[in-house]
Amino acid sequence: MPAATTAPAIEGWFATDDAGQTHLIGGKCTACATYVFPPRTNNCPNPACDSDVLDPVPLSRRGKVWSYTENRYPPPAPYPAPDPFEPFAIAAVELAEEGLIVLGKVVEGTLAADLQVGMDMELTTTALYTDDEGVVRTTHAWRIA
Ligand SMILES: [Zn+2]
Repeated sequence: MPAATTAPAIEGWFATDDAGQTHLIGGKCTACATYVFPPRTNNCPNPACDSDVLDPVPLSRRGKVWSYTENRYPPPAPYPAPDPFEPFAIAAVELAEEGLIVLGKVVEGTLAADLQVGMDMELTTTALYTDDEGVVRTTHAWRIA
């Protein structure tokens, strides 16, 4: 059996450097410095800004829990859900530098009872599902720092 290969579930949302550290990729307005995630290259979200140019930038790897919840039921199709389904936590984390709040799955083994608002979190990745070609599709995820 060949070694399992992995690929992001969605291209362009995060990158992993040579040291194995993962960071999200955001968009930053060239005019007013507003950040967005998921990344996009146009349409600044700041209502007071007319800029239509956002540059891709690496975002903070760390932040603090702003809110969190726990999924206790499998999501409906077309969202992938493991079978048997295991509950998992989702955290909204306020990025340290940008102040942007980024929603993400929390790594397996950490549930809502383990989380608190204000807790330090860091970015990692987790397997989301295995596609029809046997490629493990990954997504960004939060873990307790
Ligand atoms: Zn702007």
